[in-house]
Amino acid sequence: MDCKNLAFEAEWYDEESGLNRTFTMIYFPESNQVQLFEPRTNKMFLKKSSVDGLKPSDIYVGSEVTILARQFWLKAFGDDYTRRVLECKNEQTFAMVHPDCVRKMGTVFAEIQKTNLRIRAATLAKLTEAQALEFYREHTGKPFLPALAQYLTSGPVLALQLQGEGAVRIWRGMIGDTDPAEAQPDTLRARFGTSKTQNGFHGSDTKEDAMREINSFFPENDRTDHRVAPITSAHLKDCTCCIVKPQAFLDGKLGPIIDSIFEAGFNISGLEVIRFNRVKASEFHEVYNGVLYEFADMVAQLQAGPCVALEITWPRTLMPGRDLITQEPMSEGDNSKFKHASQDIVLAFRALVGPFDPELARKLRPNSLRAKFGEDKVRNSVHCTDLPEDGVLEVEYCFQIMRR
Ligand code: ADP
Ligand code: MG
Repeated sequence: MDCKNLAFEAEWYDEESGLNRTFTMIYFPESNQVQLFEPRTNKMFLKKSSVDGLKPSDIYVGSEVTILARQFWLKAFGDDYTRRVLECKNEQTFAMVHPDCVRKMGTVFAEIQKTNLRIRAATLAKLTEAQALEFYREHTGKPFLPALAQYLTSGPVLALQLQGEGAVRIWRGMIGDTDPAEAQPDTLRARFGTSKTQNGFHGSDTKEDAMREINSFFPENDRTDHRVAPITSAHLKDCTCCIVKPQAFLDGKLGPIIDSIFEAGFNISGLEVIRFNRVKASEFHEVYNGVLYEFADMVAQLQAGPCVALEITWPRTLMPGRDLITQEPMSEGDNSKFKHASQDIVLAFRALVGPFDPELARKLRPNSLRAKFGEDKVRNSVHCTDLPEDGVLEVEYCFQIMRR
């Protein structure tokens, strides 16, 4: 084999047998072609071929590539040469946004998406005290540790797996010095941290720490679940589901969408980067099958790449007498549709998302999410639950069924 070719272990979920099948994928950089064979039998699965839509930038560990309408997950390097060549581009780091800064996650996502770093995984999770102490075990015995553990368990944290050349250094640079008072003014800790302990953010110190930290938060990275991962902060009740679709996520709209959701007065109580395969995407959108002309395109868009699932709930403190969408004061006896919607999170959030078609949304509801972030009916930037009785079901689908 020409030593310039790259080799990967590629996994494909076989719908028929319900099993994951592993292949060796060879990537030919010069011709941008791929070849697939079964590693044990050496049986050819796909002879050297060009793949529609495949870009050299799709070739990294963790990537999902679609070959012959099948989604392959590039699970690991296939040989030492590939590892040597690509390891620096595949560098990973672990980032954490502490409870008091979770409300700033829109800004954090927007800033990350301006860099070369990819958001490989994200979860809004609750830590137990034991998990917080374990996470900072290098500081065992230090006087600030009890306060730090209390801080980390005071609410959900946002954990992120970031990937890209120089990931550890870039994220450390973005958060700045441990002490917000010493940090450069444009860094996240300087902007949002309040004290040396309550500095708002964590970033791995080394590549080795990064791998340990990533594995403790995202055990599904190796698709085994032998570790105790922090549990999702999703409530799974009185909620509705929002999915930031692959195209919108890829285009860097996640941060601005999240900011708009918070500004409208909603709470984000769960967050997870998820990947739909074809079966799951059609199952999730089944209610639209035969109802919407765009059904097939919607399914294709949903499985086109990673997306971000959000659990939307009412904030704990609602402002009485205010329109829940605009936060404008409501007059006595006002029977606007939001007053009705205020009873039901699914309907209220659907009003913020706006009409299915962004063109229509821009005319009728210019402040809705689809008006601001959508492109067309299929790439309309976000999905939200349509029927009140489906809110919990869709959230369970994203936060429980997708994890299996
Ligand atoms: P960093 O998070 O910048 O890598 P360390 O790994 O040294 O810093 O410490 C982990 C966390 O412990 C810090 O982010 C901070 O919250 C807390 N911490 C560290 N040193 C001190 C200190 N001297 N006083 C108070 N809190 C501290
Ligand atoms: Mg550290």
